[in-house]
This record gives sequence, structure tokens and C-alpha cells, in this order.
Amino acid sequence: MENQKQQLQDSFGRRFKYLRLSITELCNFRCNYCLPDGNPCDTPKGGMSLLQIETLVKAFARLGTTKIRITGGEPALRKDLCEIIALCKSVEGIKTVALTTNAFLLKRDAQAYKNAGLDALNVSADSLDPRMFAAITGKNKLQDILAGVDKAVEAGIAQIKFNTVMLKQFNYKGLDAFFEYLRSHPVTWRFIELMQTGDNGQFFKANHVAGEQIKETLLAQGWQRIIRGEEAGPAQEFSHAEFAGNIGLIMPYSKDFCATCNRLRVSSQGKLHLCLFAENGVDIAPLLASGDVDASCEAIRHHVMEKKFGHFLDEGFTGATKQLAMLGG
Ligand code: SAM
Ligand code: SF4
Repeated sequence: MENQKQQLQDSFGRRFKYLRLSITELCNFRCNYCLPDGNPCDTPKGGMSLLQIETLVKAFARLGTTKIRITGGEPALRKDLCEIIALCKSVEGIKTVALTTNAFLLKRDAQAYKNAGLDALNVSADSLDPRMFAAITGKNKLQDILAGVDKAVEAGIAQIKFNTVMLKQFNYKGLDAFFEYLRSHPVTWRFIELMQTGDNGQFFKANHVAGEQIKETLLAQGWQRIIRGEEAGPAQEFSHAEFAGNIGLIMPYSKDFCATCNRLRVSSQGKLHLCLFAENGVDIAPLLASGDVDASCEAIRHHVMEKKFGHFLDEGFTGATKQLAMLGG
């Protein structure tokens, strides 16, 4: 019940209404910034059970979390994805269930996601040019993915966003194609600044584009910053009178990025990660398997007090995160 909720808060007064839940580390794409050689052979094959997920979501909801984003690896590789969506949606206090996916099954499953209760969808699409898309992701699937997004619109999934990681040697030159798409499509296209991880050091050096550089281009072309609510994610959003869609910029290297951090992460193996780039996750999997929601709440509340202020990414510190498929970006 609302008045009995003890809001989750860290020692800097930041609140956590948003949980990113990874349900598998496995992925079928080979994005050059994430898994250029596919999953390493020591990747765990399984993920948390439905009971563990249920305990986790109930505990977070009791601590004031209202939004769950299901991610991975590629979450659609789990056959029980729709059950997981429905389970998250059924927990009292959870208002929004979102999914981040490479969309390889979206054309087939958009309606099933909607029927299960999905509210919001982020689709990763790193280029609108099929050849460039294949060069980045290792898959010749752009047309299928765009068709999947059409199905998601038809199915009535109201909030749809695209995610694109900006890469100097690949899609950065094609920025105009994204703008053209937004002229007629009322979606939000988010450009994510490439993050350095343990595995992509060389690639990062060759391909990192500062988000501020893209922001200057947008402002010069008449895009205007939209002021968003307190609980909005980390993206800065922009709109333009001549375009149906909006643009979002996610700039993890900008100086105030961590100050408004409102998210925690749990890995597919049941480890609580206080930051995408924290050194290690805290293993709460056994507690979750016991089904004990009270004890899980207590453990989560205790560990959150250890969350550090920032990620130190700008000092080249990438923690234990080898690639984002380990945890969900
Ligand atoms: N497989 C799903 C997908 O690609 O949407 C979900 C997991 S993926 C790790 C989540 C997001 O993280 C994707 O939008 C991806 O582009 C982004 N991502 C992965 N590695 C990244 C990196 N090194 N820097 C910035 N974003 C990254
Ligand atoms: Fe897979 Fe997503 Fe990583 Fe691409 S970004 S390799 S789709 S987990």
C-alpha cells in the first residue's frame, strides 16, 4: 500500500523508481561495439526463474519502483518473455513495463507483447541504410525490424522509441537519414554516445563521438530542447516545428549525467548492480529464489546505500563491465 511504502533512496538522496531487469546475457546479433564476436563461450545460458523475477519485482514495487525495463542480451531469445511481461505488469505498484530489444521477433510478436501488457518499447536500429545496418550489427535485418515497428504501432503499443549508438566510422555520416525519417514519423529517435567497456577500448577510441557535438548540430538546425519531468530518463530531448518526431540525446560523459540517476539494474543471474559501471554486482539470486519479498526488500535497501555518486567513465574506468550485453545497456 502506498503509505506503507518505504521509498528506496541512496546516501545522496537519489530515488529509484526505475529498474532495468536483464533476463538473459545471450544475444543473436554481433553489434561491433558490444559483441563483435558474438557471446563469449563462458556466457551463462540460463537466466532467473519466474519465481525469482516475481520476488524481485514485488520487492522493488514495495520500495516505490513504478517502472520496469526488460532488457538483456536479447530478451526476445527467452521463450517466456510474454510471461515475464505479464508477471511484471501484474505486480501492484508497477505502472509501466518497457522492453529494449533488437526487434528480431517484433514483426511476429508485437501483438503478443501488447496482449501481455507491454506499455513501452525501445528498438535498437543503428542505421537506416540496410548495408550499414548489417555492417554494424552483423545481421541483414533492417527491413524486418522496421516492419516490426509498424506492427507494434498497429498493435497499439503507445510509446515507441529508437536507439542508435553513434559511431564515427560508421553511421555518423548518415545522421541526415534519421532526420528525414523523423519528418514524417511521430517517434523519438535517441542517439546514444558510445560508452567504453572492458572489451571495446580500441573501437571506442576510433568511434566515440561526443554527444555535445550532435547537440550543437541540432541547435544550429533549429531543434529546441524540451524540458522534461523529474522522473524522465537520462536523455535530453529536442523537438522541431517541421518534424513529426523528436530527438533524444543520451550523453553519459556529460558532467551532470549521474546527478539525476534514477535507475538500478539487476543482471540475468540475479546480481544487483548499483551502476552500469560498478565493480561488481551483489548476488541476491538465492534470496530471490526463496520467494521472501520482505528479506529481499531489506537486502536491496541496505545495498543501495552503498551506491557511489558517479561512474568515473571519463577517467577511462569501466569497472567489471566487459560489454553491455552482460547487464543490459
Ligand atoms: N539487445 C537489446 C538491444 O540491443 O536493444 C537489449 C540490450 S542492449 C545491451 C541495450 C542498448 O545498449 C542498445 O540500445 C545498445 O545499442 C546499447 N549499447 C550496447 N553497448 C553499448 C555501448 N558500448 N555504448 C553505448 N550503448 C551501447
Ligand atoms: Fe545484442 Fe543488443 Fe549487444 Fe547488439 S547491443 S550485440 S543486439 S545485446
